[in-house]
Amino acid sequence: MAQSRSSGEALGASYRLVERIGSGAVGEVWRVEVAATGEDLAAKLLRPEHAEDPAIVERFVRERSVLVALQHPSIVRVRDLIVEGSQLAIVMDLVTGGSGRDLLAANGTLAARDALLLTAETLDALAAAHARGVVHRDVKPDNVLLDGVWRPGRTGAVRVTDFGIASVLAERDRKTTGLLGTPQYMAPESISNGRSGAPADVYGAGVLLYELLSGRTPFAGPGTDFTVAYRHVTSLPPVLDVPAKLWSALETLLAKDPAARPSAAEAAALLRRLSESLPALPPLAPGDAPVDFAEVERPATVVRGSSAASSSATADTVSDAAAPSAGTAGGSVVGEAGREPEPELGQAGSATVIRPLVRPRDTPETAAPEQPAHGRFPRPDWLTNRALAFGALGIVLVAVVVVGAVLWLPSALRHSPTPQASAASATAFQQDRPLPTGLSVTRQARYDRDVGEVTLTLTYSAQASALSGSLLEVVPGIGSGSGCPAVAWSDDSVTAQPNQPSVTGLDVQCGWNLSGATVPAGGQITVTGRVPVKSSSLASGTQSALDAWLQREAAATGKAVGDDGVSGTAYPVQRLQGVQVETPARAVSQTTLPVTLVPVWPSGPDDLDPLYRSPSTGSPSQMLVDVAGGEKGVRFSDGCSGALAVSSDGLVVTALSVAPTCTVRAVVGNFANLESEQFGITTRD
Ligand code: ADP
Ligand code: MG
Repeated sequence: MAQSRSSGEALGASYRLVERIGSGAVGEVWRVEVAATGEDLAAKLLRPEHAEDPAIVERFVRERSVLVALQHPSIVRVRDLIVEGSQLAIVMDLVTGGSGRDLLAANGTLAARDALLLTAETLDALAAAHARGVVHRDVKPDNVLLDGVWRPGRTGAVRVTDFGIASVLAERDRKTTGLLGTPQYMAPESISNGRSGAPADVYGAGVLLYELLSGRTPFAGPGTDFTVAYRHVTSLPPVLDVPAKLWSALETLLAKDPAARPSAAEAAALLRRLSESLPALPPLAPGDAPVDFAEVERPATVVRGSSAASSSATADTVSDAAAPSAGTAGGSVVGEAGREPEPELGQAGSATVIRPLVRPRDTPETAAPEQPAHGRFPRPDWLTNRALAFGALGIVLVAVVVVGAVLWLPSALRHSPTPQASAASATAFQQDRPLPTGLSVTRQARYDRDVGEVTLTLTYSAQASALSGSLLEVVPGIGSGSGCPAVAWSDDSVTAQPNQPSVTGLDVQCGWNLSGATVPAGGQITVTGRVPVKSSSLASGTQSALDAWLQREAAATGKAVGDDGVSGTAYPVQRLQGVQVETPARAVSQTTLPVTLVPVWPSGPDDLDPLYRSPSTGSPSQMLVDVAGGEKGVRFSDGCSGALAVSSDGLVVTALSVAPTCTVRAVVGNFANLESEQFGITTRD
């Protein structure tokens, strides 16, 4: 991006640009001079498009004091944040020794002791930030700068930079993408439901340690950003040839469950202890990225006998139930021949992503003629308008987007005598964006030709609030001309029944009503169904046909739950778009304020069938139970500086004193920051 800045130019009132020292995803980094003292500093000049976004500027200004206050010997100190016309800049200490990325480029791998100490210092910085409520969100070697020339054995050199910058810049994008970070370093929970708290930083430090030891990130390998990101969720990190206690430390940092990871401070202490107790070991020989990854064991795949872990070097030993990887297996090259360059989509890299992760174009080999627009589903028209309408509620609904990865199983090749056996099995992935209720759905389809069926695995995750009730899943037939398949759902997790249009108001073909499960807050559940396949329909182009089918499946489900022609309260977890907080236009002081929570469906708000009325007159609506766990998921608060009082359970609001303009705020399950229209409080007469 051309930023016609040149040396000598002023930056803000106090700095002068000296020379450009680098450029990154978000702009350029310059060496600058404090005009008054001549002191050398660095300034990151953000791209003008960031400065034109009021949400980013607002957030930038809001974060200023937090970032400037974040001081620690291992953190690059932010001196100033400059907002000047169309220029946003972060002025910080100049760090002269390059970054962890340069260290890797120069050395390939580091000795265990050095890798441990560099990571421990990075964790010190993270711990200090976490103690102040700041999450980094983009831990990677590029953001670990080094003060002065680093040599083996040197400590005290680490200066972590870019704290919270990813969040500042993603203020707008995050609402629409739900994803933020750098795919190779993103924690599973950031990928599956967009949660990136302190544990995600610890995970990032685990990836950093892995990379310093081995020269590559655990899930690097063939495929795109999406494939790599998805492996964090589904695959086990390939084992490194390091002492067992070092490997077990790595495993705890890289735990899939954020709650199982140590805090940054605990992790720093753990790695320091290890650095003292391990014998001096030479660096590992840098290895190639594996082609196959061992999959995390899940109920859906245990039957196929996946083993716990596979070594990075032995792709051949991966069992039948192994691992998604993209494209055809064949070397660690990410750039596949025949792929058109598509700047938006990017291959797996170490660049920070604040945009949707979308699958790139298929290679000619896997391209399906019947496949529609690649990787992107047409957005229903209502979506855009509604998205705007919900801006005020801070909710943006986004359609189904991402499609995933492919695998030719090497073992299937070996075991099968027929030449077309390479098409015998395939795996496809798809991931929806989180819905306003906090539900996100990840879908996996695995075709097994021997059995003649596709195993569809649905992973439902929830965010702030537990979710229950009925979920709709539309499962069209596989192959043209096949009717709705008789899906055999695993009945231990849900009760599955065909969707009944007369009951739900949703007239959709091949719809299933999955009920009885509760997705815990911050957790996930898995539901599997076996979909019979007529042997002919997937025989040729298995992978692309499976991809296309899974896309159709997800798109059909998304379309059904987003249908603005449907009214009624069915499938609230998928269909509820927003919540309106309604009060009378005028309230009388010293009386209870009636508040109604009105559901907003794809067809619009429904005043006649509210989610909840306060003060409550009976048991809460089933919809409220489904999306917010009932009354316990509702909390009102005062939006007019003390003129309202709220009962200790958060459910009853009283108008206290006269106020010309007042609002009441509410949280309902995952719907935070709700606020009513303004109303006035007057005296009795
Ligand atoms: P990236 O997206 O790769 O992290 P950045 O915009 O953060 O890119 O940084 C661009 C370049 O500027 C990198 O090479 C980085 O090492 C360098 N850089 C960033 N911050 C500083 C700093 N405070 N002092 C010296 N160099 C810096
Ligand atoms: Mg950076």
